[in-house]
Amino acid sequence: MDVAALLAEAGALLEGHFELRSGLHSARYFQCARIMEDPKLLERLCGELAQRLRAVIGGMPVDTVAAPAMGGIIVGYELARALGARSIFVEKDSEGRLMLRRFQIRSGEKVVVAEDVVTRGGRVQETTDIIRRHGGKVVATAVIVDRSGGAFVPEEPLVSLLESAPEVWRPEECPLCARGEPLVHPGS
Ligand SMILES: [Zn+2]
Repeated sequence: MDVAALLAEAGALLEGHFELRSGLHSARYFQCARIMEDPKLLERLCGELAQRLRAVIGGMPVDTVAAPAMGGIIVGYELARALGARSIFVEKDSEGRLMLRRFQIRSGEKVVVAEDVVTRGGRVQETTDIIRRHGGKVVATAVIVDRSGGAFVPEEPLVSLLESAPEVWRPEECPLCARGEPLVHPGS
């Protein structure tokens, strides 16, 4: 499966001049919402993600897919469908910390953590820690796009559909700013 071509066709991989949430500038941006608007495409992508996951973890039964809200929920749900697992999510409490609010986890339950995009891996790591605190066993992490450039290395295997860590610049060093290219603030 040519994932990059599929994502570009869906309008999810954008070329231009973008200001990221970090304040840094980049010539490429991944707009994951454009995948979520096409359920058939997301089903195909998550089917492929499930196959790649199986190639790494083998036939081990997966009980549950857990995702951080909001971005990860739809990916987690589709991946759970492809794996024949249940789908749960962690979400923020009133102080903005992720926690498990609506679901139970059995001791020893085998869990895959799912997310749409991983950059520094903070939310994936928080989700993993929450599952472990509740007695679950995290067996792998599965993401659509790994933007960490190899910097995020969780304890258990990380499986992605696309590794894409575009170059980023501080505004004062940005070659696109220097050329006077108009700046776009993509929705996150
Ligand atoms: Zn710039």
